[in-house]
Amino acid sequence: MQKLYINGEWVESKSGKAFDVINPATNELIDRVASAGIEDTIDSIDAAEEAFRKWRNVLPKDRSKILRKFYDSMIQNREDLARLIVVEQGKSIHDARIEVDYAASFVEWFSEEAKRIYGDIVPSTKVGQTLLNYKEPIGVVAAITPWNFPAAMITRKIAPAIAAGCTVIVKPSEETPLTAFYLAKLLEESGLPKGVFNIICGNAAEIGNTLTESKKVRMLTFTGSTIIGKMLYAKSANTVKKVTLELGGNAPFIAFDDADIALAVQGLISSKLRAGGQSCICVNRVFVHENIASEFANAIVDEFKKIKVGNGLDESVTLGPLINKAANIKISKMINDAVNKGSSILFKSDAEGLNENFCLPTVIMNINDTSLLYESEIFAPVVSIFTFQDEEDVIARANNTQYGLASYIYTEDRKRIDRVVNALEYGMIGVNNVTISTEMTSFGGIKESGLGREGGKYGILEYLEDKFVAIN
Ligand code: ADP
Repeated sequence: MQKLYINGEWVESKSGKAFDVINPATNELIDRVASAGIEDTIDSIDAAEEAFRKWRNVLPKDRSKILRKFYDSMIQNREDLARLIVVEQGKSIHDARIEVDYAASFVEWFSEEAKRIYGDIVPSTKVGQTLLNYKEPIGVVAAITPWNFPAAMITRKIAPAIAAGCTVIVKPSEETPLTAFYLAKLLEESGLPKGVFNIICGNAAEIGNTLTESKKVRMLTFTGSTIIGKMLYAKSANTVKKVTLELGGNAPFIAFDDADIALAVQGLISSKLRAGGQSCICVNRVFVHENIASEFANAIVDEFKKIKVGNGLDESVTLGPLINKAANIKISKMINDAVNKGSSILFKSDAEGLNENFCLPTVIMNINDTSLLYESEIFAPVVSIFTFQDEEDVIARANNTQYGLASYIYTEDRKRIDRVVNALEYGMIGVNNVTISTEMTSFGGIKESGLGREGGKYGILEYLEDKFVAIN
């Protein structure tokens, strides 16, 4: 059984309870995990608070060295980590290897950034006065993470936090906690002092309430659904915590009639195959100009025919199952809704012997803007094609959502790029490509997609506070 990691020790939960972690490709039990509740959460907060007093004063260079070791060991253990991700999350082994590299890249980047935390010397308004602006670590950080990227969603938060001198309590998703515990083992071996990093999971509501109510927790960083994010944001108000949120998206993908169709198709497919379409920046609404719609749709179908669905551990598989049966029921309802509103299913792949967690690649045409597929996160390998004629109209439709995370446009017209980029209300825009997230750039959304940025030169600022000092 997997134990919790609190204050540098592997411990049972206080309640003695445990929960199952299931492989979605086979429905087999992978492991049982100690289930944390209120008391375990309090223990982890106390440990993180105690550790913070020392960790904040450890030299940036020494913090950097530990993170660098952690990065090296993630790369050395790449294959084990990737296999663990496949087993508990379901994605293909190729995709899991990409995730490990991506996850590790944040550790490498922030190991370097630890040494580049600069304050300011501000010009004085009085003779004999020195004005200083320090950047100091915010304190104990609670990080609540989802199941779609079991490694990367954790490292994107803990690497900047640890680099900044904060201490962290991570609550990974109960669907995919084993990758998180594996990372804890590597961090421990890298020489991180006890209490700087803690992992608890189990009763999400109890843990969430205890973390948000605690005065000792100074920051909450959350990646997950908009509904839970909003609730945690509200709960954090009482103790005026710093909050960063990476919430849902409803990414438009606009292919204009002057687009390079082959390039656009390739981009769309690669977005849809990343975590089986279960990523918050995944293409959600595909707007294709009427003049190229049938050529584009047929090209997508040709590519979808090549997808091999199955257990992600099989090297020939390119698409695994969804995270669970509930996710599959949700997407089936969306598809039925679209069909009832007049859409046609252009393609649905067939495969036999797959369990109820698998969603087969599907392409749907002629979708109405009142469909659930327009307004909801699809989170499945389903391509929903809308058509348009006019640039202004498609921009208005693309912006017509409460979300503002990622968006994508394909066009060969430079002036159009400027116009559309200016008009799109999104935190991130991919032009003629879908690869918008790297450790060196900032990731995040506007509107109800979130608050704050992860990665890039701004990523570490989220974990720092200003302290202004005026010396006479
Ligand atoms: P998803 O729909 O992607 O599973 P969730 O928002 O439900 O998104 O999950 C993201 C993270 O939020 C997970 O770690 C989950 O356990 C956690 N979570 C869910 N409910 C709560 C809650 N009431 N309090 C704190 N964390 C929660």
